[in-house]
Amino acid sequence: MAVTHTPAAAPPLPAHPDPQLDAILSSGLPHELSYAFDGPFHLLLPDRFDANVASFTQVLNEAGVEGRVYYAKKANKAAAWMDCCALSGTGVDVASAGELRDALSHGVRGEHVVVTGPAKTDGLLRVAVLQGCLIAVDALDELERILAQARAATRPARILLRRLPAAQPHSRFGLDDTELEAALARCAQAQDAVVMEGFSFHLSGYDPLLRAELAGELVELCLKARALGLQADRISIGGGFAVDYTDAEHWERFLREQRPEHYHAGKSFNPGDFYPYHSPVAGPDALRTILTTDGLAGRLREAGVKLLLEPGRALLDRAGCTVFRVQGVKDRSGYGIVTVDGSSLSLSEQWFNSEYLPDPVLLPAHEPQGEPYAACVGGATCLESDMVTWRKVRFPTRPAVGDLLVYPNTAGYQMDSNESPFHDLPLPPKVVLDTAGGTTHWRLDRHPLA
Ligand SMILES: *Cc1c(COP(=O)(O)O)cnc(C)c1O
Repeated sequence: MAVTHTPAAAPPLPAHPDPQLDAILSSGLPHELSYAFDGPFHLLLPDRFDANVASFTQVLNEAGVEGRVYYAKKANKAAAWMDCCALSGTGVDVASAGELRDALSHGVRGEHVVVTGPAKTDGLLRVAVLQGCLIAVDALDELERILAQARAATRPARILLRRLPAAQPHSRFGLDDTELEAALARCAQAQDAVVMEGFSFHLSGYDPLLRAELAGELVELCLKARALGLQADRISIGGGFAVDYTDAEHWERFLREQRPEHYHAGKSFNPGDFYPYHSPVAGPDALRTILTTDGLAGRLREAGVKLLLEPGRALLDRAGCTVFRVQGVKDRSGYGIVTVDGSSLSLSEQWFNSEYLPDPVLLPAHEPQGEPYAACVGGATCLESDMVTWRKVRFPTRPAVGDLLVYPNTAGYQMDSNESPFHDLPLPPKVVLDTAGGTTHWRLDRHPLA
């Protein structure tokens, strides 16, 4: 039946080309792994993570600014990144006792860990103090509990005071002006129990200028804190370094043309809820922009203030992808429904009233033939809303049972932030691809017997 499916398809949104990964994907390895695991899986590329860390560090070096990169661990739970951090001396940003344990157990030094998150438990604070971690204080009552833990442990707590950004006054995180004032006084008074190392913030969104502005304000706060006898020699500007998934042309066309008929069931998304999949200034370039805005680099140097940053997503850029196997295909009028062997809980953007937009790539099991074909992608569950991809993606040919669908660049937040063994479907294993020396070896991220 020669139905022309193409007109219903959403405008294409291909991820940036990645020839090295393409070579691995076309090697037959993904089909072999799909057979072995009998379910979806994630591929991880730790070499990319290392390269991303190195690019951020290089921007600091070029600007002559002292600082440290902390990987924001919530963006992906894999052990591989902890090994990378331990081996390169990269810091880790944790927000729970479990995350702290994982970082320490992989050999990340306590002093290279920053503990963020609201109302941290006493257990987490105690271990953080004993391990010499840097603790970002989110509230005055938390500061009191930190001081109590430091006294009990007879070790001073290393802290930053987290600033409630004036630009985001409704944020539930950080200390406002009055609270900061009180916290500074409390630190000055509790000198033996605390080393007040500086200030921090984390902004929503990806605007480098807002970050530069707030960083400048924190440098001034450091000078003010020093007048009280506090150390105040570093600031953390948090994360939010954008990732550029696709080019400007495709992104602008997508935003311009996408409409409900491009989605299964006429679903519509608020374009404002989409992640900005194209960013002209992204990753380390965003850090460069921050440092050059209003001479921030010079102000940091002059004031002797170190710059800490906590990128999550940006360190995982191009460091992984997600592979599903096609389990069934059925035709609807003008498009098809592809059902894959997992659920949307393994591709998390759906859970934010949005969807992951870089197009999945079809890896056919056999020589592809036939016409282009538009299809959405559903999970192998009994929920109407469990769609891995609501939009009708234009595939080069009609997917067939046994083909693989590869979602590109999913390491940042997409892999595991919402994963669940719903329906007794197994959690997708993470497979690490070691690509040193030009050959590719695979291994499990966490060995089942370890
Ligand atoms: C989530 C978070 C980050 C990382 O944000 P990205 O957008 O992934 O870079 C950094 N710092 C804090 C405090 C966070 O909550």
